[in-house]
Amino acid sequence: LTFDQFITHWAKERPDRVAMREDDRVMTYGDLDERTARVASALLAAGLQKGDRIAWIGKNSDLYFTLFYGAARAGIVMAPISWRLAPAEWAFIVNDTRAKIVFTGPGFEAAADQLAAKLDHAPRIIGAEAARAMIDDATRTDFAPSGPDDAVLQLYTSGTTGNPKGAVLTNTNLFALRKNSANLDMPYTQWEDDEAVLVAMPCAHIGGTGLGIMALAAGLPGVVLAEFNPDGVFDAVEHHGVTRFFIVPAALQMLLLHPRCASVDYSRLKYILYGAAPIPLDLLRQCIKMFGAQFIQAYGMTETTGTICMLPPEDHDPEGNKRMRSAGKPLPGVEIKILGPDGKEVPTGEVGEVVTRSSNNMQGYWNLPDATAKTMTADGWIHTGDAGYMDEDGYLYIHDRMKDMIISGGENVYPAEVESAIYGHPAVQEVAVIGIPDAKWGETVKAVVVPKPGMAVEEDDIIAWTRERIAAFKAPRSVDVIEALPRNASGKILRKDLRAPYWEGYERMVN
Ligand code: ATP
Ligand code: MG
Repeated sequence: LTFDQFITHWAKERPDRVAMREDDRVMTYGDLDERTARVASALLAAGLQKGDRIAWIGKNSDLYFTLFYGAARAGIVMAPISWRLAPAEWAFIVNDTRAKIVFTGPGFEAAADQLAAKLDHAPRIIGAEAARAMIDDATRTDFAPSGPDDAVLQLYTSGTTGNPKGAVLTNTNLFALRKNSANLDMPYTQWEDDEAVLVAMPCAHIGGTGLGIMALAAGLPGVVLAEFNPDGVFDAVEHHGVTRFFIVPAALQMLLLHPRCASVDYSRLKYILYGAAPIPLDLLRQCIKMFGAQFIQAYGMTETTGTICMLPPEDHDPEGNKRMRSAGKPLPGVEIKILGPDGKEVPTGEVGEVVTRSSNNMQGYWNLPDATAKTMTADGWIHTGDAGYMDEDGYLYIHDRMKDMIISGGENVYPAEVESAIYGHPAVQEVAVIGIPDAKWGETVKAVVVPKPGMAVEEDDIIAWTRERIAAFKAPRSVDVIEALPRNASGKILRKDLRAPYWEGYERMVN
């Protein structure tokens, strides 16, 4: 399966159906075929070759998808860069890609100047208007389409635990989810003809770009939001026929907090997919109550082209079903093992590192042979760096990242579980839990809390609240109040930044 095949197929089958919509701009599958073929032709005419890199700095846009799909048809690799990063971080990634062309999205014209002095090579930098003109003026020529195992997308990891790394993904990787889930005889893996998919998360992440690809694979409209905002999601559901969207837990909470949330007409919405970070149970319960849609959790990472496990709607029983804490079952074709510190598989129910193998797994990290060798074994297993266990029914439970695990008095404490317990406290808007150094226990548990507007948070009260809900050794020993949690461009809490001031002069065991 390749981009060229999907685009050619749908252009033949349903040339007049909507392929992509952004605001009032609509592109049919016929248009998509023509415009992406022109992109491929123009890039090749400009001297680029299969395997060359191009980059995108900008918000989500139909232009981004046109450039990406067009490049992919010819095996030219797109590297979308998060617009939320600082110019120095853009430059780090552009330099890393060795991109021949950097495209900037609408509103990012200044990026050219901001990058200029920081680049160690001289890519062409093309603004959005010029890029649209390039496509308008290009002539479609014949080109050799990329094959299933050719790289087409270079996605940078979120940089939650270190520098972002470029995961190189092929045609096969990007359509693996479609292929694997098509084998599931479940309603949510089947598509009705009148559906549409919302691209609400940033295109620099698999949860953004991947949703666009999901629409393409199904031959349905992808509705593109330049960036996540609650009104944009509500409008897409009420007015643009969106039946499925994927957002991260922090974005779900923003929807819930929005005054419009309770009065939106959700009748066309079928599925809400969520994932990319642990979800507090209380938030999930509130969402199930609020939205008239079915919920699906996705677990995966950039290196596995996104989803490898799914928790289906039937396991979302708000009345205390323990499966609500699970990240779901591996998709068909996905192997998962849980390894202990000795590298051997642990018995069912025991916590260890999650490792996985499937056609979702990336080719490797771009230009980082050592990091690739550390993450991917010779026989194709990816070490996720996540701690979790598998139950007797084959459901995976993600505890947290191994690097965030707190070892207190010899007991392992996973921040996500503690956060989930604290989250339900009426005065708590957000919370992050970290380990801080302690002479007696090695580490102790600290909660860093953002109070709800106008509310006060008492240390003793939070500690008592948590002790009522989880084992005492997991409850925080201290609580700090903070105005906002540090998050990276994908909205993930940067626990390493929260930890840093407490660990000055100390060495963490896991790091
Ligand atoms: P970096 O690898 O650069 O530190 P990152 O790991 O945050 O950044 P991503 O590939 O965007 O980059 O995120 C993948 C990680 O997100 C997973 O390894 C896991 O820790 C977390 N994650 C994804 N889905 C879920 C989920 N459903 N529940 C809990 N955690 C999840
Ligand atoms: Mg990672």
